[in-house]
Amino acid sequence: MAGLRVGVADLRRHPGQRQIIERDVELDGVEVSTAAVPSGSPGHLDVVLESLSDGVAVSGRLSVPWEGPCRRCLEQTSGVEVVELREVFSDSPVDDDLLSIDGDVIDLGPVVRDAAVLALPVAPLCGEDCLGPDPDHFPVGTGDGAERAVDPRWSALDELRFDPGVPDPLE
Ligand SMILES: [Zn+2]
Repeated sequence: MAGLRVGVADLRRHPGQRQIIERDVELDGVEVSTAAVPSGSPGHLDVVLESLSDGVAVSGRLSVPWEGPCRRCLEQTSGVEVVELREVFSDSPVDDDLLSIDGDVIDLGPVVRDAAVLALPVAPLCGEDCLGPDPDHFPVGTGDGAERAVDPRWSALDELRFDPGVPDPLE
């Protein structure tokens, strides 16, 4: 990912010093099976870099635009997820939780991309009050949508999800 390599030489000369990175980031191609970042819609990165004695801490937020089919009505829906970023780039990473500093440069690209993938909803919902398939769009007896809408196994599942006593595993 271009433009997300950040020089930290100056920052590192002053432990405790902070540097704000705020910019749009290209997330084209980031997707999971249930949702994707719309082509041409940038995410927005807003993080603070902080110089540590043996590395650089990165913390802040990433906004990720997404689109995908609603899990109930199957209509295309979209939204923006915001995820927290918290990473440490270290001179000498001792475990997998730490990223390494490449010379005096840290590369936020992979961090941003991984976070964006995790931010995408695995069960998109067009609205909390979505009632499911619109009968006008899925008339009984035609197409996959209709079979799905009237399949008793699916209605049983819907009743389960709507029962306030049973937590929705997808929420
Ligand atoms: Zn819906």
